[in-house]
Amino acid sequence: MPATQAINLFPRAMSQAAVPVRPVGECREVFDWDFKERGAMDNWFTIDEIDANTYIISEYRHWEETHCYLLNGNTRSLLIDTGLGISNIYEEVLKLTDKPITAAATHIHWDHIGGHKHFPDFYAHAEELEWLNGKFPLSIETIREMVIDRCDLPEGFCVKDYEFFQGMPTKVLTDHDIIDIGGREIEVLHTPGHSPGHLCFWEKAGDIYLRATWCIKIFCLLIIPLQTRKPTLIPFMEDVQRAM
Ligand SMILES: [Zn+2]
Repeated sequence: MPATQAINLFPRAMSQAAVPVRPVGECREVFDWDFKERGAMDNWFTIDEIDANTYIISEYRHWEETHCYLLNGNTRSLLIDTGLGISNIYEEVLKLTDKPITAAATHIHWDHIGGHKHFPDFYAHAEELEWLNGKFPLSIETIREMVIDRCDLPEGFCVKDYEFFQGMPTKVLTDHDIIDIGGREIEVLHTPGHSPGHLCFWEKAGDIYLRATWCIKIFCLLIIPLQTRKPTLIPFMEDVQRAM
C-alpha cells in the first residue's frame, strides 16, 4: 500500500449491534449470523498491511472486532495485543515475521490477551499484574459467555476448553518506557481509564498510520466509563497533546 494512501482503521467497527446470543455449551453447530461481508471472512483473521513492517490483525467474526498490531523491527517484532484466543494468532504472526516476538498488552482483558499463551516473552503494566495472577474480577464462566457472544465460531472450537490467560510478564512496563525492536523505538504511555494499567504505544518516528493506530486506542479509552480515573486524565491528555 502506498505510504500516502489512507487506510480505514475501523472498516466494520460496531456494525453488528443486535444479533442473537449463542448459549454456553454449544460448541460445533453453525451459528446463523448474517454478516454483511461474510464472503470476505472465510478465515478467522483479517490482515491489513500498513507498510512492509506494520500490520493490523483483526478478528471480525466476533462482535468485539479486536485489532492487534504487529510491528516488525530489525532485531525482533512487537505484537500489541494477542486477540480473543479463539483461533491461534501465533500461526498467523509467523507468516508476517521471522524475528523473535515480544507481546505487549494494551490491557489485561480477555479479548486482548487471548493468545498470550503462545508468547512466553510478554510485557504488561504493573497495575494489572494481579489480574494475571488470579484476581481478575470476572469468573471463567462469565468470560466464556462473552467469548461466544455474537460470534461466528470456527469449526471445532469448544468454549468449555477456553481459559483466561494467567502468568508473569517478562518485563513490567512503566510510563514512557521505550521498547527498542531494532531500528524502531516504541514509547509506552500509561493511559488508565478503561483499565488501571491501560497502555498506548507511540512510535515518534513513525508515519501517520501509526498515529492513527494509536488514536484507536485513545478512542477505546474515551468511550469507556472514565469516572473511575478522572484525576489521571489530565496528565494523559497532556501526553496526547504533546504527541500530536
Ligand atoms: Zn478492554
